[in-house]
Amino acid sequence: MPRTAEIIAVGSELLTGGVTNTNAAFLSRLLTAAGVEVLYHTTVDDDAARLEKAVTIARGRAELLVFSGGLGPTCDDLTCRTVAAFFGLPLELHEPSLRRIEAYFAARGKSMTANNRKQALLPRGATVFPNDWGTAPGMAFGDANRTVILLPGPPCELEPMFDACAAPFLAARAEGILVSRNLHIMGMGEAEVEQVLRPLMESSVNPTLAPYCQAGEVRLRITARAADRAEASALCDGLEKAIRSSSVGACIYGTDIPDVETGLVRVLRERGLTVSCAESCTGGMIGERITAVPGASAVFAGGCITYTNQVKQNLLGVDPAVIAAHTEVSAEVAAAMACGVRARLDTDIALSATGYAGPGGGTAENPVGTVYIGLATRTGVQTFRLSWTANKTRGFIREASASFALREALRAALQLTPASQSGDRKN
Ligand code: ATP
Repeated sequence: MPRTAEIIAVGSELLTGGVTNTNAAFLSRLLTAAGVEVLYHTTVDDDAARLEKAVTIARGRAELLVFSGGLGPTCDDLTCRTVAAFFGLPLELHEPSLRRIEAYFAARGKSMTANNRKQALLPRGATVFPNDWGTAPGMAFGDANRTVILLPGPPCELEPMFDACAAPFLAARAEGILVSRNLHIMGMGEAEVEQVLRPLMESSVNPTLAPYCQAGEVRLRITARAADRAEASALCDGLEKAIRSSSVGACIYGTDIPDVETGLVRVLRERGLTVSCAESCTGGMIGERITAVPGASAVFAGGCITYTNQVKQNLLGVDPAVIAAHTEVSAEVAAAMACGVRARLDTDIALSATGYAGPGGGTAENPVGTVYIGLATRTGVQTFRLSWTANKTRGFIREASASFALREALRAALQLTPASQSGDRKN
């Protein structure tokens, strides 16, 4: 299996900024997970000479060249013929692909143009990736030193084709199998984690160890290659043990956690703690995300969507004088909401959110994008002022604020004494 890769995205629209190159990010993530080190991303427009130049450079510096885009039927779609010519491969009509393209159009009651036939002209000897999601087939070919993979540009075709065809193509060429494990760390910054683990990172070849900085936490990925899963897992176990016995160990809160809400529910369950929430601008998003996690019923008492001031007063007991003095979008009201819901629902942790998600509203002091998060526990109440920049959408502001609140609840859960060891839960 190739060890290094370059991703070459072809398309003028990528260089004019009309389309964001999400294919490169997707391919990088999956190739990295498959154990291939992605060394370069290149973007080139629909120009044969510049594409040839990009291929010449890529060929000299990576073992696997993955192309996205330019497999369509129009004359500016030149990836296949340009790259095939570079590898000295003539194009031949691939009958099964032609039949598929004909069937694709027939199924939609459309007539196929002569141009579409071009998509079935493939390099001699290529491994063909059938396109079940569109028309242009993908393919793989190469020589003794280089492997080339060509995939269609639309992400709705490229992504499933990579999963269904390219990943198995690469896996079949891999020696042994690859197993990855993620350790999630909170309470220690990336620089500090790196400093502690630098010697381990440098000395670990199989498994490898890599840190990733994510919103509010650090993730360490251990990746091992071995003849079978059991052997690869045992290699991961050895390195995990070494990490856990370092000073980073105390900050590891979980393994292979897909998102913050799953981490929160897991930690609350392990510690016998509970959570509730009072939401204004997030309108139930925090509660929705917690309850989307299987097993949330053991830890989530409930939540209130308290949108108007009247409901904040009636359901949470927020003092109207506090609202009058500070307005409903303030640290004081966020604190009162969190304390109110915690007292009423009798939970260890309570979250609140109040803010201006826009597009209208806001004040000079608290413009659109300002959100206050409250976090109440038996040790007291804290508030956070979030300030998402003005060009953020309503959806972004609400989603990002909910994510922040969940992360802070997780951080609090990690710091709270488990319920079984504390005396009075509420004070
Ligand atoms: P088609 O048959 O649709 O023409 P193609 O393989 O020729 O497929 P392109 O014409 O290069 O692909 O791209 C088609 C569309 O796919 C683009 O307009 C764009 O919306 C999307 N696309 C292309 N490349 C990328 C990329 N790198 N990242 C995200 N989207 C992309």
